[in-house]
Amino acid sequence: MSASAPTRWPTITKDAASLRVIPNLRDYDETRRAFSWDEERRTLSGLPGGHLNIAHEAVDRHAAGDRRSHHALRFIRPDGTTHAMTYSDLAETTDRFASVLRDLDVRHGDRVFSLLGRTPALYSAALGTMKNGSVFCPLFAAFGPEPVGQRLRLGSGTVLVTTRALYRKKVAPQRDVLPDLRHVLLVDADGAPEAGTLDLWELMARAPAYGPIAATSPEDMALLHFTSGTTGRPKGAVHVHEAVTAHSATGRYALDLHRDDVYWCTADPGWVTGTSYGIIAPLVHGVTAVVDEDELQADRWYRILAEQRVTVWYTAPTALRMLMKAGTEGIRRHDLSALRFIASVGEPLNPEVVVWGKEAFGLPIHDNWWQTETGGIMIANYPAMDVRPGSMGRPLPGIEAAIVARDAEGAPVVRDERAQLVEDAHTVGELALRPGWPSMFRGYLGEEDRYRRCFAGGWYLTGDLARRDEDGYFWFVGRADDVIKSAGHLIGPFEVESSLMEHGAVAEVGVIGVPDEVAGEVVKAFVELKPGFEASDDLKRELIGFARKRLGAAVAPRELEFTASVPKTRSGKILRRLLKARELGLPEGDTSTLEAAR
Ligand code: AMP
Repeated sequence: MSASAPTRWPTITKDAASLRVIPNLRDYDETRRAFSWDEERRTLSGLPGGHLNIAHEAVDRHAAGDRRSHHALRFIRPDGTTHAMTYSDLAETTDRFASVLRDLDVRHGDRVFSLLGRTPALYSAALGTMKNGSVFCPLFAAFGPEPVGQRLRLGSGTVLVTTRALYRKKVAPQRDVLPDLRHVLLVDADGAPEAGTLDLWELMARAPAYGPIAATSPEDMALLHFTSGTTGRPKGAVHVHEAVTAHSATGRYALDLHRDDVYWCTADPGWVTGTSYGIIAPLVHGVTAVVDEDELQADRWYRILAEQRVTVWYTAPTALRMLMKAGTEGIRRHDLSALRFIASVGEPLNPEVVVWGKEAFGLPIHDNWWQTETGGIMIANYPAMDVRPGSMGRPLPGIEAAIVARDAEGAPVVRDERAQLVEDAHTVGELALRPGWPSMFRGYLGEEDRYRRCFAGGWYLTGDLARRDEDGYFWFVGRADDVIKSAGHLIGPFEVESSLMEHGAVAEVGVIGVPDEVAGEVVKAFVELKPGFEASDDLKRELIGFARKRLGAAVAPRELEFTASVPKTRSGKILRRLLKARELGLPEGDTSTLEAAR
């Protein structure tokens, strides 16, 4: 499969004078050549006996050293007031949280889930869980009861940390089918007691000191992040403590973190970015991380950038497109002179947005690429390197990326147990990574086969289509599967279809992503009704409401269309590609055109 050369937006060149600090990566080829994961690992302090614990690297070693009074996290509350936690504060609160877990007999490897907004409790729970050697699994507070229940079940959640309202609405009604869930810890339990829950702050207030941090081994599971596939249930990607080595390296090179930075990652920890780069990477580097407890509003965001004197900002295309739509006057009203580096991840970043960044902030937006399974940034644009708008950049030091040829069915071409690589510039294939980097997922929880199928011919296959140009810059082309990316959320069509199928009027349903100017894609459902049901606007509203109630607004379809029949293969698989081709007015039979056009 070949495609035309990438769009010819002029390259944005960098010169030394435009860089406010000396970048950590000055010479790409030289840094790559000199890099080794062993060396990177030596920049961490580790624990006696070869043990390694993310919370130690992110918190305790700083609290025990010269960073103890430095702000680790600075929360901006919805009313604009702030609340800062020093590294020493964070060490203490995570210690207490770990101690609560131990008192409740929550052990090494047990799963602790959170269903919380971006408040201090979430950050204490994440790091306190790892301190206790337990496994942290953050869920989006915007998920509906179905995704919450399903993930708690699949991940055998032992503990859930949440609020009273979220518990009542999303968990209490299904508590009887969550037998593993032993403890629900409420962060707002003051007032009347809530049946079946405990008061987290009360337990923390009387928790004894935890003592030495859990001596986890580098390969012990630390984090569980659910992601979506095309078919079947959500996949629980398993990450281990060793991942911190990659968080450290990528924080250094892709985000260019320096000790005095004030860094803001706008992602929610419910998404892997908000954990790897909203919690771990900045704290490992001992910087101050800003956390906004509220949602995107252009003026609020500019105010945060200005008042907090943010130097490094990591955000996402949907947010940038929304800001771009809001116009640049808002930016001019604020002093953003501290800002020196902007990075973006999660969806294709339009070249227009990269260029707009340069006009609006005086800085181009640096796209980077990774996914839940990779645990950390794999391909990036670096501060010292010219930016080719529309390109994801070049692989991180220590990361080998390639384009693997795909056959007519879309499967990777493997001969003699080796994947056939695409050497020609601009030829599209599947983006692949050489396994072995520290933050690579170690499995899909309980799904060995599904995990094994991600690897072929000596490569990890990412499920994304991409091409490489003659200088080694990678360009995103599209997903190789039917997974939907809407406002940064990866949504499995199967999960949405299954939920709608539970409605009495629905006979069949096919779900696809349709292009949207701001969110990239929005979820659209095509519904075939059972005999006796009439298509109507009322029924459409009812079905969308039905899905929203179960799945939550972030996952439920935004659009719904009735159809006489949902196209399927003879074996009964929904032909989502055909639905998409029809929706976009593309030829129905030509799948290669479909892929290239996505
Ligand atoms: P998630 O696992 O939710 O982080 O989603 C990972 C997927 O998001 C990738 O496999 C891509 O399809 C998409 N993605 C992430 N970063 C980028 C990027 N810079 N450009 C295009 N797509 C991206």
